[in-house]
Amino acid sequence: MRLISPELLTTLDLTHVQYRPDDPYGAYLALVTLAPVLILTSYVAVFLVRREVVYLNALLGQVVTEIVNGKLKRYIKQARPTEFLGLGYGMPSSHAQFCGFFVVFWTCHLLFHRPDRKARMSHHVDSFVFVLLIWLFGVLTCYSRVHLYYHTSLQVLVGGTIGSIIGALYYAATEAFVRAAPAGSVVHSARHFFYTNSLSRALHLRDGGMAWEDAGAAAEYATWFSKMTASPGGILTNGSLACHVRMMLLALTQADDCDAVKGAFSVGCAIAVPALQLADPEAPIESLHDVEPRALTTGFSREFPGNTHAEECAIEKLARYCVRTPGGQGGAAIDMARSRAPIRLLLYTTMEPCSERLSGNKPCVARILETNAQPMYTTCKWLAKLAASIPENAGVSPVAADDLLRPVRIDVVLQGVPEPDDFVKCVGQRTLRMHGIHVVTVTPESSPSAIGVSLPNLASVPIAIDTQQPTGWLREACLCMARKGHKDA
Ligand SMILES: [Zn+2]
Repeated sequence: MRLISPELLTTLDLTHVQYRPDDPYGAYLALVTLAPVLILTSYVAVFLVRREVVYLNALLGQVVTEIVNGKLKRYIKQARPTEFLGLGYGMPSSHAQFCGFFVVFWTCHLLFHRPDRKARMSHHVDSFVFVLLIWLFGVLTCYSRVHLYYHTSLQVLVGGTIGSIIGALYYAATEAFVRAAPAGSVVHSARHFFYTNSLSRALHLRDGGMAWEDAGAAAEYATWFSKMTASPGGILTNGSLACHVRMMLLALTQADDCDAVKGAFSVGCAIAVPALQLADPEAPIESLHDVEPRALTTGFSREFPGNTHAEECAIEKLARYCVRTPGGQGGAAIDMARSRAPIRLLLYTTMEPCSERLSGNKPCVARILETNAQPMYTTCKWLAKLAASIPENAGVSPVAADDLLRPVRIDVVLQGVPEPDDFVKCVGQRTLRMHGIHVVTVTPESSPSAIGVSLPNLASVPIAIDTQQPTGWLREACLCMARKGHKDA
């Protein structure tokens, strides 16, 4: 009994590629011609890792294109250039149709899906490079079908054209149209339901483009970069410590002092130095006792004349003080100081430092980076004197190491709340992290009484404690404070 023999077998057309052994390009083009199989497996692999629904959608689109191709072939009934290469009819080429869809779908995606039209130049450049590569790949695959005698040029041309048209229509209908649907429409609600139902959430299904201009790649990279380089921060960057909460409350009382205006946030800021930095700038900060922040300067929105920001005012005050450091004016002394370990400072702000200002003034992120790039120079003794003069540090006498001139560096930015998108889209945290500054959102572990901090009396925004959510009070207070005076006319 013969269960199997050569004449009973057939070939899976997509994977069976033959070429002339004396053709120098034959083997390479045979590999290229396998592209559809590689692309289909890539879709599945990338989807499993990223959970971005667009890959699943593209896979579905490719399957639809293949079904259309099969029907067209059986309808047109045009033979292939040879009888022995390839199975079935040749018009239109299914490889070319597959590639046409692939190339056009992803070109549209790379060029049009970004909700942020003002995306940075680098994004346009990398989109352009990827589009170019995709087209090269598509054209080469189509060419391989003719070169290997599987199709005539016309069959490839027709296939490519039909695939491209399906790709464009499919992208428009399933991606562009769905993404652009206005809030309240059926499509918008359906999409919302699709992403928020419990199954989708369990599978972590997402459309990164809804939240970020680059599907989150830059935000993810910044988080990764900050974690990878976070080693010296340690305890300094633990945002739930009560000492950080206390300093944030000091910043909040500053914001309480500022006059509310409609077109801007009300923010407070405090710059502090960890106790140990004054006593020994080179010692690693390892315990809670080492952190104890000593306030140096404070600031609030519009404190200095003009449209000034809280961080700007606090940094300016520190600069004015440092400039008066005894013996700190000479060029030679500063040259010597350049190589010394910096005095690492903590900057507390009730809201994420701004990365863009509608007024065109220099954003706080740029000021912070500038402070580190062209540092001020001072001594521990001089800073300790400043700390001793601040009422918030009453009761502790700062111990200063010496009067050696050193650069100061803002090492950690501690924020009360990320900037909401009321005026501009803020990328402050991300930018600071990319420059090696730790950014921490101060989040108390529990209610004020439970963590042992007493609340200040704020005139403009009372701090409310929600017993259901006892960790959200600081965040809420910072946000309400920032928006004070924005609601009523
Ligand atoms: Zn600012």
